[in-house]
Amino acid sequence: MNAPHKCSATVLPDYHQPLEVRELEVPPVDDGGIIVKIDRATICGTDHHITLGALAPISKTPCILGHEMVGKIEAQGKGREVDVAGTPITTGDRLIWAYSYCGKCYYCAVAHEPTLCTNFTPYGYADSTIHPYVIGGFSQYNYILPGCHVVKVPDEVPSHWASSASCALRTIMHATDRVGGIRPSDTVVVQGSGPVGLYGVVVARAMGAKNVINFGAPDARLQVATAFGADQTCNIETTDNAQRAELIMQMTDGRGADVV
Ligand SMILES: [Zn+2]
Ligand SMILES: [Zn+2]
Repeated sequence: MNAPHKCSATVLPDYHQPLEVRELEVPPVDDGGIIVKIDRATICGTDHHITLGALAPISKTPCILGHEMVGKIEAQGKGREVDVAGTPITTGDRLIWAYSYCGKCYYCAVAHEPTLCTNFTPYGYADSTIHPYVIGGFSQYNYILPGCHVVKVPDEVPSHWASSASCALRTIMHATDRVGGIRPSDTVVVQGSGPVGLYGVVVARAMGAKNVINFGAPDARLQVATAFGADQTCNIETTDNAQRAELIMQMTDGRGADVV
């Protein structure tokens, strides 16, 4: 399969401006790079913030929004035979991938906080007039840079799950790490019922928490939280802080939550 030389992409021309469909160049694949056809892209709250300029000057315009996506391999550069787990990858396989970090700056090499890398190339808010142009999910094709870690999506995982997991689930896995993990005796309170919060419920449940409580809104989201394993939900639009604190105390014999 050969990737096309051009494709359509949805571009944010400047902050506070309406999106435009533009034709952009799909560059030839370099060693270590991969060209994918986007199979599914999902919308993150950050996409909205980017349109308002909230990430400037780190974000650039014009840019292709979208940093949660799944792409099918169309072309592979030399030296890209496996994903981060060592699983072989080939044409037609579905991938998710991370931003390109340099691995050499202070934040990459010393602090081990690559999301703070001073030389990174993001997807979804990089200048689409600079090579490799197609780096954002709301595009027909994307160029995965040689510095991006990639994960092959297992056959049993649908693309819409993998796409949203590539941002929201990853965020929660990092947060769970930072709080030191979750123990079987823990009562976990997840504040918020957007994608990150809902994945927070899933992860707390999967890690064996005793009680999982979700505070959020609207009710439809809280129903998803229940389906995802929350023992108790609480609508923040119809309760106040005191009522929510009382609920936690009741569920923990007055000890309070272990992880928030
Ligand atoms: Zn995101
Ligand atoms: Zn770096």
